[in-house]
Amino acid sequence: MQNLELLKSKLSSPSKIVITTHVKPDADALGSSLGMANYLIKKGHDVQVITPSEYPAFLHWMKGNDDVLVYSEDTHEASQSLMNQAEVIITLDFSVLSRINQLGEMVKEANGFKVNVDHHLDPEDFADFRLWNTGAAATCELCYELIVALGDRDLIDKDIAECLYAGIMTDTGGFRHPNTTQNVHEVVANLIAHGADNSRVSKEIYDKNSINRLRFLGYALSQNLQVLPESRVAFFALSEDELQKYNSKTGDTEGLVNYALSIEGITLAGLFKESSDGVKISLRSIGKFPANEVANKYFNGGGHRNAAGGKVDISLEEAVNRFKGVLGEYKDQLEEEYRRL
Ligand code: 5GP
Ligand code: MN
Repeated sequence: MQNLELLKSKLSSPSKIVITTHVKPDADALGSSLGMANYLIKKGHDVQVITPSEYPAFLHWMKGNDDVLVYSEDTHEASQSLMNQAEVIITLDFSVLSRINQLGEMVKEANGFKVNVDHHLDPEDFADFRLWNTGAAATCELCYELIVALGDRDLIDKDIAECLYAGIMTDTGGFRHPNTTQNVHEVVANLIAHGADNSRVSKEIYDKNSINRLRFLGYALSQNLQVLPESRVAFFALSEDELQKYNSKTGDTEGLVNYALSIEGITLAGLFKESSDGVKISLRSIGKFPANEVANKYFNGGGHRNAAGGKVDISLEEAVNRFKGVLGEYKDQLEEEYRRL
């Protein structure tokens, strides 16, 4: 951990702290943000979490949720002034400033001491202190390690532990992905020891579906899913009309892509989602197939090898055609990974 002593000294007296995370925060993004916020508040700091955009209702149970400032909901001036005044700015679960939209410029220009905790590839050089490990399953895992390294293990209470547990649970796909290491199990065991109710967290995140969401899932699986067995690829391509018809809310399509990946014989799965400002793509893969390379080369995105995403400013049909068009380039790898696993 570079500059740990410097970070310790920055946090040794009450400071104004801003915590921010990536656009469309998931459980790891929000869990690490609120986990760190609750911990730093306990240490006596004045902490504000700012997210670039809104996030799903199944994350609203986390302590501190009501105090989060959502930048896209007309809090531009407030965010700017908090960012300018912040003595410490903690950036979580992203490694390049473009992942936080307009907040990126603000962070770049702010004078505060910048901290980055993350597990994504190819970090941009903007932080004064960075805890970065692509071998970590989740940013929440790294946040736990940071709190311990700062000598504050005893400050971890039930609320902090549950925020951190949530991010580790979801970024490991419910402790199923290959990133579910011994360390992951050790960290979550410690979080449970600090009071995290693992069963409750799992219920809050996975088992609070609306009927609409389930009907939408039924529709997507029965009417929308396309399977290309020879390519070892399956994907959903959802238009704005289809999403509106089922009154789809932020987070309702979360996890949908995994159904496509769960099909026997599939190496790469995709979800294409049309919105007023382009098409959002989610990719998931098994084994060594580089979903992040596809996202980066063809969809202005990136991510992890097995979970990546991007966004393009073309029509849904064009995005799907682009995807189909690149499968030839990966034909051998798609087949190889299926055979290997
Ligand atoms: P999701 O499919 O859940 O939106 O994203 C999966 C992963 O892909 C994220 O954890 C993130 O690492 C990456 N990702 C998603 N969207 C983007 C994007 O627009 N740009 C980049 N660089 N990475 C993305
Ligand atoms: Mn993450």
